[in-house]
Amino acid sequence: MDLKSYVRDIRDFPKPGIVFKDITPLLADPKALKACFGKLYAEVKDLEVDKVIGVESRGFLFAPMLAGTLNAGFVPVRKPGKLPFDTFEESYALEYGTDRLQMHTDAIKKGDRVVIHDDVLATGGTAKAVCDLVTKAGGIIVQCNFVMELEFLKGSDKLEFPVKSVLKY
Ligand code: AMP
Repeated sequence: MDLKSYVRDIRDFPKPGIVFKDITPLLADPKALKACFGKLYAEVKDLEVDKVIGVESRGFLFAPMLAGTLNAGFVPVRKPGKLPFDTFEESYALEYGTDRLQMHTDAIKKGDRVVIHDDVLATGGTAKAVCDLVTKAGGIIVQCNFVMELEFLKGSDKLEFPVKSVLKY
């Protein structure tokens, strides 16, 4: 199944110059949804995993399903001010300025084996910040897992952990 045909390019969204990779057609098609999940799951099924992290907000689409199927827990990493309990926080650079991500301090236990999941790996700044949060909490990152990777942006060079993506551009 050609999953790329279910990903729609939206030019100049959310800002001029950005080509947004829209996965809603893939999510809306039962066969494509199932095939995409199957490929994501194939990358992690042989790993020992305690927690799967989903990165707000499109990382929340597949991460809980991956966690449930792996018999692991799901942990949300969110934008500032959304999580109700005590949090660890990491800042990361954007094209203009910085942004922050937070995770509950009790979400990952020391020694937990963690998979980090998001929809798109672009420059890698987001995933690197999540890796730093997990490391701060004492977790062991076993894989960074994405629906797609924009290889020309070389985001995987920022990550010191195994990177897997279903689609590569
Ligand atoms: P980055 O930190 O540059 O790797 O960007 C990754 C984050 O931004 C992910 O959470 C993606 O959801 C989002 N993102 C970055 N670039 C795109 C894109 N071209 N299309 C859709 N989402 C993107």
